[in-house]
Amino acid sequence: MDISSLVSSVKSFFFRGIKSIPVVRERIQKEYNEIMKSLEGSLKPYKGKFASFKEIPREGKSQEDILQIMKEIKDFEESRWKDGYVSGAVYHGDEKHIDFLNKVYSIHSQTNPLHSDLWPSIGKYEAEVVAMTSFMLGADNSDNASICGTLSSGGTESILLAMKTYRDWARDTKGIHNPEVVLPITAHAAFDKASEYFHIKLVKIPIESDYRVNIEKVKNAISKNTIAIVGSAPSFPHGVIDPIEELSEIAREHGVGFHTDACLGGFLLPFAEKLGYQVPVFDFRLPGVTSISVDTHKYGYAAKGISVILYRTKELRRYQYFKITEWPGGIYFSPSFAGSRPGALSAMSWAAMVNIGEKGYMANAKKILETANKIKNEIKTIPDLFVLGDPLFNVSFSSHTIDIYKVMESMTHKNWSLNGLHKPSCVHICVTLRHAQEGVAERFITDLRESVAYVKAHPSEKGEMAPVYGMAATIPDRTAVADLLDMYMDLLYKIE
Ligand SMILES: *Cc1c(COP(=O)(O)O)cnc(C)c1O
Repeated sequence: MDISSLVSSVKSFFFRGIKSIPVVRERIQKEYNEIMKSLEGSLKPYKGKFASFKEIPREGKSQEDILQIMKEIKDFEESRWKDGYVSGAVYHGDEKHIDFLNKVYSIHSQTNPLHSDLWPSIGKYEAEVVAMTSFMLGADNSDNASICGTLSSGGTESILLAMKTYRDWARDTKGIHNPEVVLPITAHAAFDKASEYFHIKLVKIPIESDYRVNIEKVKNAISKNTIAIVGSAPSFPHGVIDPIEELSEIAREHGVGFHTDACLGGFLLPFAEKLGYQVPVFDFRLPGVTSISVDTHKYGYAAKGISVILYRTKELRRYQYFKITEWPGGIYFSPSFAGSRPGALSAMSWAAMVNIGEKGYMANAKKILETANKIKNEIKTIPDLFVLGDPLFNVSFSSHTIDIYKVMESMTHKNWSLNGLHKPSCVHICVTLRHAQEGVAERFITDLRESVAYVKAHPSEKGEMAPVYGMAATIPDRTAVADLLDMYMDLLYKIE
């Protein structure tokens, strides 16, 4: 049985709503196993090629041998992102930049800012990363400036920290015990994670035809339990910026927090604005904005594992801090979720910012925005496709006439790795410096035109992954989709 007929039979089961019958469940499970088996090929490509270890080897392998294997694996994986076939993922990726960051890492590989007395250097780097980032995002940088923040391990942690902070702040200062956050449906999945982890109710607001959140509906969703409102600058799915000014004013009028999620755009939009692009204000220049998440590991061009969370006041930041005074292990505190942390990542982030400089960020932003603009305008000339909203650098597109997931699959066959999205079904490419390389945008458009033509010429061809995406987008029983995701994650930890 091929994947597509599997998927359609799985799908028909759910439409008939008989998933709960044990016999049916068993059959579905079997069919899921088949889907997983086909995924295993791409997720476990080293099966049989390299030794795998289920226990610590009795005799250690030589460092040379290990490095040799790792180099082979790296070479196998590197060209796809390096040559610009991948949406997002690696935002800089030039050899010289990587070499520099690696040197910085090697100098600091043993540091741990949990031991702030041993490595005050990391404290210096972290304080300066926060200062440089907040100044870039509209804070004044005088000594008594209130805007402050901390580093975290990534955008998700920055968002989790902000949500926990608002929860505890609202409990202490307003007596709110059933906290709610009002946010666009397009806000990042990290907010759902925060909701699950910290028992915060999310009130999700639909978007308009321009893919920005509906302001009136946000207003109407505010209750006595609201602790904060969220907007994205820009959103991950469609790359459009929510009406942050209006939203943050609503928050201010109601005395609740406002979080701008600038994880994606924080290190690009300020430079886009300086370059003369139309960028609505989304940062601390708006008095209602009380926190911003911004990823140094995206367009800040640091290596993965580092992000910044900023707050308007030091009072708010206090609610993020963890401290315990009665632990037999001694007095203990940590500003973010982790205990021990890799100080080298903070050092790399600092080094990237100080090395690239404002001029460098401007030049990079210019290249990225021009490349994205070219891609956006070319997609618009392909008759079967349309662009969703008016994005600056994260371009999503879809079709009224053909299955967009089949187009994505055809692009995958041409080595591209794009993001498949749903509600509505579309595909996006998040443009990075990798795509600003000579000829990459042109190659993307040529391949996209060919893919559209192919899908049109082969209407009955179902494809392998396209039906899986189609199913995930349309299946009414969402627990069935969640089951598949559990299996996918199990597969990640399966030994080859
Ligand atoms: C990337 C991103 C995040 C956080 O993602 P991490 O993978 O945890 O760094 C949050 N919001 C938006 C809009 C993003 O693009």
